[in-house]
Amino acid sequence: MNFDKIVKRVKKQFGVDVRVREDERSVFLSGECDNWEHLVAIGKMFVTEGKHVVNDIRLEGYAEPPERLPQIRDNALDGTQWDVVVIGGGISGCSVLRELSRYRLKTLLVEKHSDVARGASGANDGMVHAGIDLKHDCLKLKYGVAGNAIYGDVCKELGVDFRRTGQYVIFDSRIIRFFAKGTVKRATKHGIAGVKIIGKEIRQIEPRVKDFAVGALYAPSSGYVSPYQLTIAYAENAVQNGATVSLDTAVSGMVVENGKVVKIQTNRGTVSARCVVNCAGVFADRVAEMAGDRYFSIHPRRGTDLLLDPNAEGAPSETISMGPTLKSLHSNGGSTKGGGVIRTIDGNYLLGPDAVETPDREDTSTTKESCDNVFAKQSTVCPSLKRSDVIAYFTGVRAPTYEEDFLIERSSKVINLIHVAGIQSPGLTAAPAFCKDVAATVTDYLKSEGYDVQANEHFNPTRQRPVRAKTLSDEQRDALIKQDPDFGKIICRCEEISLGEIKQALHNPLGVMTVDGVKRRVRAGMGRCQGGFCMPLVTKIIADELHAEPTAVNKDDVGSNIAVGKIKEVQS
Ligand SMILES: Cc1cc2nc3c(=O)[nH]c(=O)nc-3n(C[C@H](O)[C@H](O)[C@H](O)COP(=O)(O)OP(=O)(O)OC[C@H]3O[C@@H](n4cnc5c(N)ncnc54)[C@H](O)[C@@H]3O)c2cc1C
Repeated sequence: MNFDKIVKRVKKQFGVDVRVREDERSVFLSGECDNWEHLVAIGKMFVTEGKHVVNDIRLEGYAEPPERLPQIRDNALDGTQWDVVVIGGGISGCSVLRELSRYRLKTLLVEKHSDVARGASGANDGMVHAGIDLKHDCLKLKYGVAGNAIYGDVCKELGVDFRRTGQYVIFDSRIIRFFAKGTVKRATKHGIAGVKIIGKEIRQIEPRVKDFAVGALYAPSSGYVSPYQLTIAYAENAVQNGATVSLDTAVSGMVVENGKVVKIQTNRGTVSARCVVNCAGVFADRVAEMAGDRYFSIHPRRGTDLLLDPNAEGAPSETISMGPTLKSLHSNGGSTKGGGVIRTIDGNYLLGPDAVETPDREDTSTTKESCDNVFAKQSTVCPSLKRSDVIAYFTGVRAPTYEEDFLIERSSKVINLIHVAGIQSPGLTAAPAFCKDVAATVTDYLKSEGYDVQANEHFNPTRQRPVRAKTLSDEQRDALIKQDPDFGKIICRCEEISLGEIKQALHNPLGVMTVDGVKRRVRAGMGRCQGGFCMPLVTKIIADELHAEPTAVNKDDVGSNIAVGKIKEVQS
């Protein structure tokens, strides 16, 4: 393809001299630019059918911060041999690992943090999207719709709560409502059932929506889930079925010989594998590069959400979002689904997310500007929302490619490397579907290499649902407390979490013994006080379980110790 016209357009629009090189898979860009958003926009201008964009344009004066890596250095994994190594413990890696545990394979998942679900999979909206916004044939649509359809079954097997509540997309103009007929037609064509347009009765269904609502699009297949609890459940079930998870383990390099990865270097030693699956989120292009296979680029995109109290006054009863407005149709609003007011599985409300391009892959800091923008945007559709009901906020980083679609394929250059990259939204929705195809790609490859892949006859798809004392009837709770009095000792008052539940969480199959690990598993510290009361108690419980001093307890990653010493000691 001749890119001269685009190069000239870039020069005129942004004043940047771009150099372009092509090979059979990708278009490679280089040059220098002084604005990150322009740099990303330039990358998008070179997207062409059938090729990926590798954007190596440098941001003037920017030095990338060092990657967050585990402090541990040991040889725990050194010399071990695996059939499959999965890199990354988000929803992609954990779902693939669990799918692979259906076979008699020696599988290892390595995750650089001290728990799974620490990347985008732990900081997203938890919406199981219907897929109505996806306009053309793409992997996001294929797997989003297929994943949505099986969500209920998967969550049931894995003992995770899931609610299919539907979603209303509000319209403020009759013209937009008219054009929404096209969305309904497209959704039907894409196999998304039950999508319909409703009129002003939306104001009765959701009285909190602003008077301007002239109608809404209703997508009944939308739902929500706890994204980190599902990720944890996938990993736990995989381990119960024989897989291995190594936390605090970062891949730092690979040795490739004759077009195959033969060695994987980590901070815990060098391992070998017949097949490697790259599920490294915002670092997926870096992991590809380690194997000499960089043919796509990730441009990280931050998204901030505000978390509201479950008793927030003025919130709608279910998930609503603002549809396109005449104004937004004329502006460029393509990088987020627009966010919404989202009911979480635990009864809180989430407002957001926004979408901000960033050069820093791990920048999960939350800015006042993002918080203000998110609140202002979502309170236009639901003006009765109160800022004083915001109890926490967080930021996650999406991992889009320039083509803005999932990239799920076996590399054509390094034949035992499978990329699961560009997994931006609706990645959480899609994972239950694409993990099956990824596992099939792995087993097909192994068979093609003459390896005998057999079913794991001990595979048990069911993971026991953890006890949630709060959800039991009085009689059931009494019986439980009689059996184990720890279930009657409340540690987290906001969320009513007992000592028994915390101890149960600490005996998780992944061996995670941190304060945030407890929080992700049983919600201790996720209530209105955000751990102000229970965090010291949880720290003490973990110390007792570890037979160690509280100073040995980490909040999350190794080195995030909560207590550093004693300030007062009473001699007994
Ligand atoms: C704000 C926000 C809201 C979203 N809302 C939704 C939604 O409502 N619904 C939906 O369907 N999707 C949503 N998404 C998208 C969804 O969160 C992602 O698609 C999904 O979580 C991606 O999962 P992943 O496993 O591919 O990546 P991640 O969860 O980021 O996991 C990648 C993992 O790889 C690890 N890793 C990286 N490099 C290495 C290395 N060298 N060695 C070892 N480990 C490594 C990282 O530590 C990380 O844990 C949202 C995303 C964001 C940011």
